[in-house]
Amino acid sequence: MAMKKSEVGAGPMDGGLGRLHGRNACLKGKIVVAGPCSVESESQITEAALELAKIGISVLRGGIWKPRTRPGFFQGVGKVGLPWLKAAGKIAKVPVACEIAHPAHVDACLEHGIDVLWIGARTTVNPFAVQALADRLRGVDLPVMVKNPINPDIELWIGAIERLRLAGITKIVAVHRGFSTERKSIYRNDPIWRIPIELRRRMPEIPFLCDPSHMAGSSELVRTLAQEAMDHLYDGLMIEVHPHPEKALSDRAQQITPAQLRSLMVSLKTKKENTRAGEYLSHIDALRKEIDGLDRQLLDGLSRRMEIVRDISRQKERYGVSFFQPRRWRAVVEDRTRYGVAKKLDPDFVLRLFEGIHEEALRWQEQATEAPPPGSAARPRQKPKTG
Ligand code: PEP
Ligand code: MN
Repeated sequence: MAMKKSEVGAGPMDGGLGRLHGRNACLKGKIVVAGPCSVESESQITEAALELAKIGISVLRGGIWKPRTRPGFFQGVGKVGLPWLKAAGKIAKVPVACEIAHPAHVDACLEHGIDVLWIGARTTVNPFAVQALADRLRGVDLPVMVKNPINPDIELWIGAIERLRLAGITKIVAVHRGFSTERKSIYRNDPIWRIPIELRRRMPEIPFLCDPSHMAGSSELVRTLAQEAMDHLYDGLMIEVHPHPEKALSDRAQQITPAQLRSLMVSLKTKKENTRAGEYLSHIDALRKEIDGLDRQLLDGLSRRMEIVRDISRQKERYGVSFFQPRRWRAVVEDRTRYGVAKKLDPDFVLRLFEGIHEEALRWQEQATEAPPPGSAARPRQKPKTG
């Protein structure tokens, strides 16, 4: 059923969280961190633990110090809640996790035997705060989960992981909880899946959890996002579960009940990255060869397109005409989206694609009028990504 204590620290590939390769695991082969947003009272966290123990979770979570956007709201019970959380973990026979934002939080967690720590989105965003935590964590052999920063900046997320690594922390887990953006969305925090996809490309050794609760912002949207995380082959989930969500002192709308967690776990379909099935392999091989060929054609076409752009830019330069052509750009977008839609492509995708091509074409035009050829970075290719 629940993970054995000895499995905590099972190895660097699971971030030290241990995996539920087990018969009674609630989500086979995955890590499930579950528990209330905040530890509110001894009875609340004990009740949560008793219910969650029956389901078979990997780690019991509970916030002790709550980072609230505005003052005047419940700020967490503070240090007094640490022994309640630890005792609840013992009842459920699982390790316990809580958020740390200050070195003093690290000290308090160590004092009370907290097993797993996490750095919240509002802390990952601040290199001073992360460094202060990393300095205090030096020599501490506990798993540390790092949530993505509030803003969609992959470098801050990577930077926080690097600061921990430099402090000697080896058990690190990344947690994708969505980003705060201006984009209209049904979700509280925009998932922007391409950012974790890129982080995983750059740090394939880091286990990845998804926190669909903070992403969703409402309990009925948690399931869809949790399934999306499974489709993206995440190593597990962090889900806010409260015995009585309607009474929760923080994040009331997004917490689910233990019963809902149970039915969610049953409904999730986990996927694998590969299979040995011969028929699949031969089909996929043929289809991938076709895709590889098409991608080369795309690149050949783009390369030829950029050569033409360079010739155009010489003409524009000669006649004192601007590189940027608002009318032509409008016409290009209109034509390409119409054509794309007729070819069953999504107009937003076509627009994004051509925005990228146009931006690059403008860069070529600027460079073509300078001495060195494009690609040799006569001008910076793009804004520096790190500060
Ligand atoms: C939390 O997990 O309760 C929390 C505050 O998360 P985040 O840092 O993702 O907002
Ligand atoms: Mn919360």
